[in-house]
Amino acid sequence: MITLVRGDITTMRVDAIVNAANNSLLGGGGVDGAIHRAGGPEILAVCRELRATVLPRGLPTGDAVATTAGRLPAKHVIHTVGPIWDPSEDRSRLLASAYRNSLRVADELGAATVAFPAISAGVYGWPMDDAARIALATVREVNASADITFVLFSDATLTAFREALGR
Ligand code: ADP
Repeated sequence: MITLVRGDITTMRVDAIVNAANNSLLGGGGVDGAIHRAGGPEILAVCRELRATVLPRGLPTGDAVATTAGRLPAKHVIHTVGPIWDPSEDRSRLLASAYRNSLRVADELGAATVAFPAISAGVYGWPMDDAARIALATVREVNASADITFVLFSDATLTAFREALGR
């Protein structure tokens, strides 16, 4: 099941929320900043531990990894890295991979409810309609057992996702 809501992903009481992180995993703006602010220092501590052990070069674009959710109402945070929009190169497959790998990690965690933001559609500059199309097509294609909610931060984003869902 796929649901669209307008809201702040940090408030979601679900098994896993997905963070649109950057390769460093060491913090950024947008939804990443909001998750670390609301979740507290425990999330960053786990990210640092990952960098010191299994991810010395950071999280590759399109990949995903889970941490604690700290003080958030969610149980886990799945960090993924979407591609930066580049008008001269088609990076759609990397954006699809970010969704697909996040759902794989969610499945490994046994998460029955997962919330996503609009990955790459903020600072990374992906055109909203196309970001929505890829997000929904990929999530439908995976046919995950989890219930998926897209938590969209603005009316414009919600509208773009509604239109993409209707297609
Ligand atoms: P990226 O670097 O992948 O583009 P951003 O965090 O800049 O990631 O933006 C991704 C999307 O998340 C944007 O649509 C942005 O408006 C949205 N966003 C920002 N804060 C939140 C939040 N607290 N909850 C849900 N979505 C958010």
